[in-house]
Amino acid sequence: MDREASEAVRRTAQKARITRIDITHHQLVLEPPFPASWDSQPRRKFPATIVRVHDDAGHVGIGSGDAMYGFADYQHLFIGTDPLDLARHSAVLDNIGFHAGRPWPLDIALWDLAGKIRGEACWQMAGGRSNRIRAYASSGVHRRPDDMARMALQVVERGFPALKIRFGRPQLQDDFAVLAAVRDAVGDRLELMVDCNQGWRMPWDTAAPWTFDEALAVARELEKHNVYWMEEPLHRGDYDGMARLRKAVSPALRIAGGEMTRERYEFDQLLARDCLDVFQPDVACSLGMEGLRKLAQAVEAHGKVFTPHTWGNGIGLAANLHLTAGAASAPFIEFPYDPPEWSIARRDFMLKNPIDIDSEGWITLSDAPGLGLSIDEDILAATLGSSSTYG
Ligand SMILES: [Mg+2]
Repeated sequence: MDREASEAVRRTAQKARITRIDITHHQLVLEPPFPASWDSQPRRKFPATIVRVHDDAGHVGIGSGDAMYGFADYQHLFIGTDPLDLARHSAVLDNIGFHAGRPWPLDIALWDLAGKIRGEACWQMAGGRSNRIRAYASSGVHRRPDDMARMALQVVERGFPALKIRFGRPQLQDDFAVLAAVRDAVGDRLELMVDCNQGWRMPWDTAAPWTFDEALAVARELEKHNVYWMEEPLHRGDYDGMARLRKAVSPALRIAGGEMTRERYEFDQLLARDCLDVFQPDVACSLGMEGLRKLAQAVEAHGKVFTPHTWGNGIGLAANLHLTAGAASAPFIEFPYDPPEWSIARRDFMLKNPIDIDSEGWITLSDAPGLGLSIDEDILAATLGSSSTYG
């Protein structure tokens, strides 16, 4: 063996090491603002936290999601460790999640890094079931019935198979009018979902969640319009209410939830008590790539649907796409889309190649290692607020 070849063997035999973690905080100014239907305060800025993990061979993994405040106390648990020890990292992150808030952007970055080291795409690492997945348009703005009907027709034109509309206007009758107008406009060309947004609130919003009777009355209206699923009809912890509601409604109206459920044991309760038909944890908010890969198996073993919430930025969306295409068999996945207030350009502002669907609503993932993302460093520099480097 010549020197070069033996050097190569020595390097592959040697374990890689994590040498550095960078966390940067960015804010994209939203002008005009985005009036998210689930938030009483219009959004004038779109914050993004970017996490990068470096190894000693020059690979860099990237992730995004929660702000990672408090991570300084725990960074030493990763520096110097083997980047490919994903199960160990997932267990440590689960503990950090208990003590200090959601650290899952780091898990996404570690998967991206591991994919780059192994030369494998994340959808392959997640199980390799498929490299493509269909998307549903997820609206985010409370529009008037005629405007929402127009928007729904654009969604049909674009090739989406389904559209999710938002309830939560001051008068329920106005929500019903929007649903009727949309169904009228699109007929059976779209599956329709309704997000009731009763599972959790923004810190400043104090309205009580719906009661069982209120949720059931809404469900009866959704049945009339052949709605595919009813999302978060009750508080996230109302297991009895969800199980009762599921039994009370037509089986054609699926009950969906779990987008901000944090712990594996809580998902196990939701499964054991038959609370939901559709499970929606987001890889950027709950359990990370490794945790959700396992949860997806449990959900599908119970005959339920696993299809994540993805309402973050393009990096989080990409992570959810890889995880779900690779590990699950979802009918479709959330694709935040409600232009002009919520455009692909805003959502994916840090990506050089924003994520879009083809003419039939499919997203095909590349074989490029990791998440296969190309980052727009110029826009990240222009939107930078603060940064921390560890290692
Ligand atoms: Mg939702």
